[in-house]
Amino acid sequence: MRAILAQPRGFCAGVIRAIEIVERALEVHEAPVYVLHEIVHNRHVVDELQSKGAVFVEELDDVPAGAVTIFSAHGVGRELAGQAADRGLQVIDATCPLVSKVHSQARRFDRDGRTLIIVGHSGHPEVEGHRGQVDGPVHVVGTVQEVEDLVVDEPGRVAYVTQTTLSIEDTRAVIDALEARFPDIRGPELDDICYATQNRQIAVRELARDVDVLLIVGARNSSNSNRLREVGEQSGIPSYLVEHAGEVDTTWFGGVQRIGVSAGASAPESVVQEVVQRLRELGASHVSEMDGLRETTVFSLPDVAAVG
Ligand code: SF4
Repeated sequence: MRAILAQPRGFCAGVIRAIEIVERALEVHEAPVYVLHEIVHNRHVVDELQSKGAVFVEELDDVPAGAVTIFSAHGVGRELAGQAADRGLQVIDATCPLVSKVHSQARRFDRDGRTLIIVGHSGHPEVEGHRGQVDGPVHVVGTVQEVEDLVVDEPGRVAYVTQTTLSIEDTRAVIDALEARFPDIRGPELDDICYATQNRQIAVRELARDVDVLLIVGARNSSNSNRLREVGEQSGIPSYLVEHAGEVDTTWFGGVQRIGVSAGASAPESVVQEVVQRLRELGASHVSEMDGLRETTVFSLPDVAAVG
């Protein structure tokens, strides 16, 4: 058997930045520092930061008054940000700059008096953060059928933004349906799916042409990791999401010669290498990496010492 690694795969610039923000905050401020929600959707990352003194909470009320509090890469709505300020928390915002860009866009559409439609998965923290940017009504749609079923007060004054980690192809279909139903709809120039999501999906689609089975390393609650697995399935090969090497199942490889491996934007390379090691133990005698795009995007860090 051969294993072929996708390129690019794994950590994106927004995830690297968010993890560095927590690590820097732990250096500059005394532990504990509090993080609202998982800083990124990956248990390995969360466990490691926890071992260094980060405390992860689901509710702002669980943060002691005045404590250093970090908002996750997925972003938060204005109400939560306001509550943190009211409670005197020292906030460091690790929201990915590409998510913040969508927030600004949503607020602009709201100021224009347009009803906001978010293309994405209702309940995902990023979508809830987008929803929380505007005062007006918000609708969330994830499928063409949901677009068909949508009821809005002023169909001539609507606008959309999209979650950053969606499937390129499925999103195109939903946007086409929106544009057909609401000819005057406004939206971002392209869509808001981020560079990292797009690059990883394109790489997996290409890799899927050369392999018999695909493994995606990523968390089950990671949107972009799930989309990568779907891209593999849509390409016609069995595709599995694994959180760690222990989940690799030998029954997946009967008659298989080439195994593709990729990883979601929040999955550490160390876990990918553990999965590769497991594949070697199962008989993958040759491991290579596909030629692919070398990403150079880097996001600068905020000043974590100056919080308030
Ligand atoms: Fe930012 Fe995209 Fe990474 Fe999300 S997946 S943190 S939007 S770069």
